[in-house]
Amino acid sequence: MTPFRRAALLAWGFVTLLVGTTWLVTSARGVQARFETGARILHRVLSQRSEQQEAVLASLTALTRAGVADAALHEYAGAMRAQYPQIVGVQRCRPECVDLGPGGAALPTGPLSPDPGGLRWHPAAPTLYALTRGDVRVWVDARRLFREEDFTDLSSAFRLRRPGSGAVLAGQAARPADGPLPVLWVRKVLGDGGQPLVFEGEHPLRWAELPLGGVALFALLAALASGGWVRLAEGRERARAAAREAERALQAERARARIAFHAVSEALVVTDAGHRVRLANPAARALLGDALAEGRDLREVAHFRATLDQRPFEAGGFWGSNVPAELPEGITLVTGEGARLVEGALAPVRGEDGEGAGWVLVLRDVGPARARVVAALEASERRRHEHEQTLAHVTRLSTLGEMSAGLAHELNQPLTAIVSHGQAALRMLADPERDEARVQRSVEATVTQAKRAAGIIAHLRALVKRAPTQPRRVDVNQVLENVASLTAFDTDLAGVTLAVRPDSAPLIVWGDPVHLEQVLLNLVRNAVEATREAPGAEVCLEARRRGKDVRVEVRDTGPGLTETVRGRLFTPFTTTKPHGLGLGLSLSQTLVQGMGGDLRGEDGPGGGAVFTVTLPLAVGEAVHA
Ligand code: ADP
Repeated sequence: MTPFRRAALLAWGFVTLLVGTTWLVTSARGVQARFETGARILHRVLSQRSEQQEAVLASLTALTRAGVADAALHEYAGAMRAQYPQIVGVQRCRPECVDLGPGGAALPTGPLSPDPGGLRWHPAAPTLYALTRGDVRVWVDARRLFREEDFTDLSSAFRLRRPGSGAVLAGQAARPADGPLPVLWVRKVLGDGGQPLVFEGEHPLRWAELPLGGVALFALLAALASGGWVRLAEGRERARAAAREAERALQAERARARIAFHAVSEALVVTDAGHRVRLANPAARALLGDALAEGRDLREVAHFRATLDQRPFEAGGFWGSNVPAELPEGITLVTGEGARLVEGALAPVRGEDGEGAGWVLVLRDVGPARARVVAALEASERRRHEHEQTLAHVTRLSTLGEMSAGLAHELNQPLTAIVSHGQAALRMLADPERDEARVQRSVEATVTQAKRAAGIIAHLRALVKRAPTQPRRVDVNQVLENVASLTAFDTDLAGVTLAVRPDSAPLIVWGDPVHLEQVLLNLVRNAVEATREAPGAEVCLEARRRGKDVRVEVRDTGPGLTETVRGRLFTPFTTTKPHGLGLGLSLSQTLVQGMGGDLRGEDGPGGGAVFTVTLPLAVGEAVHA
């Protein structure tokens, strides 16, 4: 049982008991008062009636003393008996008693002795007694002192008792008592001292006279009121408990939020509607420094700067945004303590009325993360490069078979020439009349052809051998400068203008600078050979950045690619030159592919040929892009 129910039950019991008892006692007193009033009235009536026979006695005595004749006395007595029904006889005793007036009950004629109350009782009829004065006796029937109308209140009983013995002379029987309820009593002697009859009233209290229904109704209403109060109080208690629980949950939630706010690695700053700092976590203080004091305008502490290739940062739009605003990628945070690459967002906070209550700025220093990403990418780039080198080596070996046929064909020509020139020289030396000059030409031709064969083999060795590479960060602009100085003599000699156009910004790629140099030298030499001695001949060597790649173009004003080589430029031993080996482009493509790039050759839009080397920017450079 809840404390509310216990308290309500106790209060209900107490109030019901108090009110019920008071009500019942008050009602019983009312019954008693009514009973006593009725008894008092009846007592007075009986007393008055008993005085009537006294008056009759007195008047008869006076008449006898006045010597009134018996006949007149008879008449008077008859009149009195008619008037007062309780008088059942009148006698005159001289000394024998004779009846005066009409005969009635049989009355004793001899002397009668009085009882202690002075009444003389009929020896045979117990309810008759005589009042005597002088020689006159007036007989009264005590039963007739009561009249029919005296018993209208049937709930009470009234009796007359004989003094002394207490025998009941007249009255009515009382109703039985109602269970444990008390019986009300009244006992009085009749008013006239000459007839000390005892008047008795009895009233057994009954349930019907008490307001039990009212008390029960009150108890019911009080129970209902208590029940209502209990429900109300328990409802309030439940509401209070729910409110306490909600408050506890809110506190726990706040504590969690506070811990998260302080523990989170992102910088968090909460401001009011005027951008004044209200809250900042340790990460924010570490990023923005000591200037981040509470109440300080955040816009004065945190300045953002875009990089050159970004749109300028619009501070007004960002700080006043009504919706969450992301910082542009790659933005720099400039504070009194330096500049950091950051990312983040500014979100407006709304109050309960929906109005702007402030902002939350979230910032993340991406510098360290970026360094880790770059290191990881460089490592993977290195692995990829090594893998590609291995792959290129395997590719070169696999093309060896294909090349062997061409090699055999290429070597066959100088070897056949060597053999025939050698045999001719031998034949001429065996001739005693030999021409020394012809012998010398044959030997010289043999040497020339042998050198050619050696040249072919040397090129082939360079191609097949897996040359050790030293990949590192290479500035392509620098390689262009090297190629320009290496080819300056040849271009001058050939009457060709070489235009070298490096990029204004560094173009850093990952690779072997010697290989790249070798490729560009080869392309420039081919271009110079194609434009040689033509009027206005020009070769242009240009490097530019294209997205995440570097593109180097070698353009010339020559005749362009011939039909026979266009489709198989990079197949070994493809050449249109009388003394060409047809290995330069094939070797160049292999080297470029070894650096993760590509080499293409095509006719230029305005004539001439265009060869393009494409290389990926080194990792850190590409992230900058
Ligand atoms: P080689 O120079 O020994 O012939 P390459 O592999 O370097 O071998 O060149 C193959 C062929 O591609 C050349 O013989 C030539 O026909 C063609 N070629 C190369 N560069 C140019 C150019 N700039 N203009 C026209 N044709 C070219």
